[in-house]
Amino acid sequence: MLKYDSFYFQCPHCQAWLEGRNLKAELVNEAILYSDGKVLNDNLITTPQKMILCPSCGHSFWVEHPEEPFITYEKPEAEIYSWNTWRFFGINFSDNKGKMALVNHYKTFLKKSHYDPKKEIYLRRFLWWAYNDLHRNHQHIRLKYFLNGFMSYGVWRCNRRMLLEGEKLFIKNYKDFIENLKRLLALLEKHPEEQIDLEVPEIYRELRQFDKAKELLEKVGSRTHFTNEMLRHSKWKDARVFMVTG
Ligand SMILES: [Zn+2]
Repeated sequence: MLKYDSFYFQCPHCQAWLEGRNLKAELVNEAILYSDGKVLNDNLITTPQKMILCPSCGHSFWVEHPEEPFITYEKPEAEIYSWNTWRFFGINFSDNKGKMALVNHYKTFLKKSHYDPKKEIYLRRFLWWAYNDLHRNHQHIRLKYFLNGFMSYGVWRCNRRMLLEGEKLFIKNYKDFIENLKRLLALLEKHPEEQIDLEVPEIYRELRQFDKAKELLEKVGSRTHFTNEMLRHSKWKDARVFMVTG
């Protein structure tokens, strides 16, 4: 059974048709939550993609409220660019080159134009996640993950090499990562209605301002596994993104 409902929309510049997908929530087997708020369902990010780069003409456009008539659920009688050709700008995430390409796309969008705060928050949040993708699941480099039998030795070694290389790239781009995070934090503090869950304490933690992160987390009314884990990592002075549940 298909896990998605397809919808179709047109590039406002060249009128090419693109296929979009909505995940059917009831068919999600496995959701993974990371400390930076990124959620993966069956290994795919489900946050809707609002910035789109047309695979036909290269025009970038914003889809804020996908509604008819801009969007149709009926398959048009025309050639259609499948979801994979434009989703995350057609990038292949199986290596660090693809991950860096995603970082560079967001950086280019941010440089190219001036956005209202809501859009800038969206782009900076995705840029933050894209940087974190370079060393997300860093714990998998440990031998334990091979010994637990989650992966074969070959897969584990290959994955380990990619994670170590990703960590190097993360360090190399650390200044830009921090700059983006500081700007995102300033925007979110000015526009609290745009904040997602524990995003602000998480940003302080990733900025290595552990005391501020702890202070904010201790103010959170109801303690959850998420707040407890973030407190633990703040106490350890660990600033790396981590998996909360999965
Ligand atoms: Zn186009």
